[in-house]
Amino acid sequence: MTRNVNDIISQMTLEEKAGLCSGLDFWHLKGVERLGVPSIMVTDGPHGLRKQREGADHLGLFDSVPATCFPSAAGMASSWDKELIGSVGQALGKECQAENVAVLLGPGVNIKRSPLCGRNFEYFSEDPFLSSEMAASHINGVQSQGVGTSLKHFAVNNQEHRRMSTNAIVDERTLREIYLASFEGAVKKAQPWTVMCSYNQVNGAFASENVRLLTDILKDEWGHEGFVVSDWGATNERDLALGAGMELEMPASNGVGEAKVLEALRSGALTEEALDRAVARLLNIIFKAVDSKVENASYDQDEHHKLARRVAGESMVLLRNEGGLLPLAKDRKVAVIGAFAQKPRYQGGGSSHIKPTKLDNPVEEITLLAGSGAEVTYAQGYNVDHDTVDEALVAEAKQAASTADVAIIFAGLPDRYESEGYDRTHLNMPSNQNQLIEAIAGVQKNVVVILLNGSPIVMPWLNSVSAVLEGYLGGQAVGGAVADLLFGEANPSGRLAETFPLKLSDNPSFLNFPGEGDQVEYKEGIFVGYRYYDKKEMDVQFPFGYGLSYTTFSYSSLKLGSKHIKDTDTVEVTVDVTNTGSRAGKETVQLYVRDTASTVVRPEKELKGFEKVALQPGETKTVSFTLDKRSFAYYNVALADWHVESGEFAILIGRSAQKIELQDTLEVESTVALKRKFSRNTTLGDLFASEDSAALVKPVLAAFQAASQLGVSDGDEEENEHSEMMAMMMQYMPLRALQAFSGGAISGDSLDELVAELNKL
Ligand code: BGC
Repeated sequence: MTRNVNDIISQMTLEEKAGLCSGLDFWHLKGVERLGVPSIMVTDGPHGLRKQREGADHLGLFDSVPATCFPSAAGMASSWDKELIGSVGQALGKECQAENVAVLLGPGVNIKRSPLCGRNFEYFSEDPFLSSEMAASHINGVQSQGVGTSLKHFAVNNQEHRRMSTNAIVDERTLREIYLASFEGAVKKAQPWTVMCSYNQVNGAFASENVRLLTDILKDEWGHEGFVVSDWGATNERDLALGAGMELEMPASNGVGEAKVLEALRSGALTEEALDRAVARLLNIIFKAVDSKVENASYDQDEHHKLARRVAGESMVLLRNEGGLLPLAKDRKVAVIGAFAQKPRYQGGGSSHIKPTKLDNPVEEITLLAGSGAEVTYAQGYNVDHDTVDEALVAEAKQAASTADVAIIFAGLPDRYESEGYDRTHLNMPSNQNQLIEAIAGVQKNVVVILLNGSPIVMPWLNSVSAVLEGYLGGQAVGGAVADLLFGEANPSGRLAETFPLKLSDNPSFLNFPGEGDQVEYKEGIFVGYRYYDKKEMDVQFPFGYGLSYTTFSYSSLKLGSKHIKDTDTVEVTVDVTNTGSRAGKETVQLYVRDTASTVVRPEKELKGFEKVALQPGETKTVSFTLDKRSFAYYNVALADWHVESGEFAILIGRSAQKIELQDTLEVESTVALKRKFSRNTTLGDLFASEDSAALVKPVLAAFQAASQLGVSDGDEEENEHSEMMAMMMQYMPLRALQAFSGGAISGDSLDELVAELNKL
């Protein structure tokens, strides 16, 4: 239905307009009944629908309607499968339609700066490219069903510690290349109906009042068309936030927000035009939701559960499989150990905590697939509520393990270890679980550890066990998905979307996380995750992009569409991947780009493409990628834009950040000449770096050398070495030094003339 939003705005009173900019209650926007503007519902998000039945609590204390719990983002990102995440989005959209929800509050794309962030389970990756690609698929999926999303938490919300007050200090290049890039791609590719601003401050201004973030960058630069909603309770000063570009305050402020806006209008601090712009953005989305509403919508819970199982299977990462213990043979004696095997940890705590439509029991699912001749026993092994070793439980588990052919231990992090609202302080699993694993490994040589956790842990027992499967928080079908992978019904194909460091202090943010008082400085700059470990040539527990399969893959025939492009061109890259094993499987081909010589500090390599391909045994497929300017660029702060330095770039094809299989190079030529600025303080080295400036400086340098005898050689070997040293030293001499050391032969005026000539170049 077409409506004239401007017409509606012109009929609204100031009070109605200001009122629309604050919520009705915890989960609804206000409507304006007399003008046919309905009240719509928004709710969490992101990997399942948390629609509370009543009340307005924020912590999941009130019951919510059953909904499918998909793996949380940490898991989903490990699938590296854009299409699959799109299907999850579609399923979520259908559930929202069935429950009359107009906007799902997610996905979250904050970068995993530290593995300690309590909310990492809800975020995709340490890499902005992977994160924004995953988010774009998620958003497109949900929105294809006529339901909006809320890309969150904008921006630089990378810790839970003092999340409502902390001020993140980030330099501009890091902000652009890492923290904003994760949002940028998703906004440009998928136009989320809404963006949720974060609680924290960014470089001194609350995200909710950050004109630069909300207006200059999000709306003006990236072209976001929807509205910005506050995180729940993130509004500091309502009037300032509205002026900065935050259209909706949530939850309801019970008149306080409106009053502030009206006061600001009266005082002239806020203009009516600004309010009208905000109202227009709100109305556009409200009507979009109205027009997209599917009447009497429903969804098939069993189908969605099956999808959740498939997604969980694709998300899990096989970290270790010594001697090919996995997949397990059927019809054997299997000891399943660990409290998580009966009550799996399958989702995280906080606002994303939902009520699943059903929940797989891992022991039962394993029993179903273990074969009719199998004998499956269960032992609890540890207590989830505390970390103390229970000797009786360990003894029982050892007994079960020692008489079985294989022991499968379910371990990981209990809810109390990680959640929205607080961060971890270490990477350890509870000591009772670590000790149980060592004890079982002492009596059984075939040990498989299944990990259920939202973010990286250290594994002191790693070398004592045969296999480790990282299950993340796998959603309601985690049990079935684990069973599928254990018995080879599915082949593991997840790849880590984050680095597992050897120890916490290896992490680049370690010295500055979570900051001092209300200030956290991002001193590691752009060197986040693998960008840091790579550059420092550090060993890690498991690298970014890593994951094993039950089959093997080989790479060949890397081809570049061109060996020389301009930065305005695109280039095609193709590579062949072959399944060289005897099982069907999926490989994720990762493309990284390295600037081989750069005048700015850059990471060793950066992910710029990835494709997941399914291959039958012996099958080969060609995977192709398109690279563009952004694939080669860094953010040039002086230019306030992305810039490519002319020169050679390496294209690296790998199976992880640390396992590059093939590479080639190409030349990229910049079409943007950076305006050089010369002064008396420009160094000789910089002047000789380009032919045009060198040509102008040469005569002056010759005059200087004649006068000073510096850097002049008469051909003798020692003299030659001396003059080489002089040349090395002179590269750092500024022009003004020629005057100072020339004994009067070079005048200040002649240098000023030279600088003037140089600045004409
Ligand atoms: C969380 C958001 C969530 C909102 C509504 C906030 O505390 O940070 O992610 O969408 O609550 O529950």
